Amino acid sequence: MKSLDEYLRDAEQAHGHICAGQVLGVRLAMFGLQQLGIDDPQHKDRKRLVTFVEIDRCATDAVSVVTGCRLGKRALKFRDWGKMAATFVDVQAGKAIRVSAKESSKTLARQMHPEIANKNQQQMLAYREMTDADLFATQWVKVDLPPEEFPGYKGERIVCEQCGEGINFHREVRREGKILCHNCAGDSYYTPL
Ligand SMILES: [Zn+2]
Ligand SMILES: [Zn+2]
Repeated sequence: MKSLDEYLRDAEQAHGHICAGQVLGVRLAMFGLQQLGIDDPQHKDRKRLVTFVEIDRCATDAVSVVTGCRLGKRALKFRDWGKMAATFVDVQAGKAIRVSAKESSKTLARQMHPEIANKNQQQMLAYREMTDADLFATQWVKVDLPPEEFPGYKGERIVCEQCGEGINFHREVRREGKILCHNCAGDSYYTPL
């Protein structure tokens, strides 16, 4: 595993700027991987890891940089829960750990560096210095990953009976005897104009 500073440099490059979220995300991912004993996520252990993130913020990019898990590789799973947490799944060992940032870490950052008025600067420094125990809560968990969730899954594509668009990875919905995509089943994020 690289050092905190090395990962922060990588994260800054990938994310476009350095911020408290990058520090938090890098440390969160490094800590999670250490707990799993995953030492070389980008190369040797590349196929061992699937990561679930629960927020789409600065830290998410940093988690992706450290783990090498990316959305386009299907190794990064997004659950839009608005929580600063991630679960690291070692698919080979069948082990998973969820790491969340403690709510108290913001207050602690203020206490550690009251001399820094800028909140981002204050947290950036404090999140570097804080112990893992002050920053994170952890929980060993079980994550059920069906075959279609794995990065290399090759399955048949199913066609929606209503719109005719192809659906991958068993994301089809069966309703009243019909095979539908999420949109046609009424579970949509857009409305046609
Ligand atoms: Zn940022
Ligand atoms: Zn459809």
